Amino acid sequence: MKTTKNYVQRMARKKVMVDASIAAATKQRGLLLVLTGNGKGKSSSAFGMAARALGHKLHVVVIQFVKNNATTGEEEFFRNQANIQWHICGAGFTWETANLAKDMEAAHKGWSLACEVLKDSAINMVILDEITYPLRDKLISLDACLEALVARPTMQHVIITGRGAPQALIEVADTVTEVQDSKHAFRAGIAAQIGIEY
Ligand code: ATP
Ligand code: MG
Repeated sequence: MKTTKNYVQRMARKKVMVDASIAAATKQRGLLLVLTGNGKGKSSSAFGMAARALGHKLHVVVIQFVKNNATTGEEEFFRNQANIQWHICGAGFTWETANLAKDMEAAHKGWSLACEVLKDSAINMVILDEITYPLRDKLISLDACLEALVARPTMQHVIITGRGAPQALIEVADTVTEVQDSKHAFRAGIAAQIGIEY
């Protein structure tokens, strides 16, 4: 049976440790976050951070590398907000298009936009949604991507999403989250649900 006294003592010890960790984290700089893995929650986590940033009046740019339509709820919502630019630069799933020239054109369009934004210190947060796929398919050069990320403005945050993030990207990132697929409704035959999946 837990006593109130024990609980208070345990929390006091925990507070000393948490306060010491907070006091030790004094650096300020833009972060590179990678959200990868097979589970659901990568893009929606990135867009959650976009909402946070906009709430603080920061400037956000989203570049979507795979999606090729404008029907997601997040896009509808964010387009009506101030301080955000939303670019859809995908040709759709590569197994749907099966058209290398079209996929390359879309990837290059997205990447050239990203290059501009990654030089612009007025942009506080850049979301490169699903960029791992054109990187994997070598439609965008990984070396060029790493170079642009490393050279970006010091205070700029970049969030990268997509399965199978390359190891070199994981190495240069500050925060890496691998979302695990423990269970997904789709495998029980449930279609993509509005508000949950799109
Ligand atoms: P979300 O945008 O919902 O955060 P995500 O970015 O983590 O998802 P993606 O790989 O981009 O995942 O997939 C986008 C779509 O595929 C979403 O509709 C999502 O629910 C669905 N999805 C994600 N993971 C799985 C899975 N393991 N099995 C089936 N569908 C999935
Ligand atoms: Mg996604």
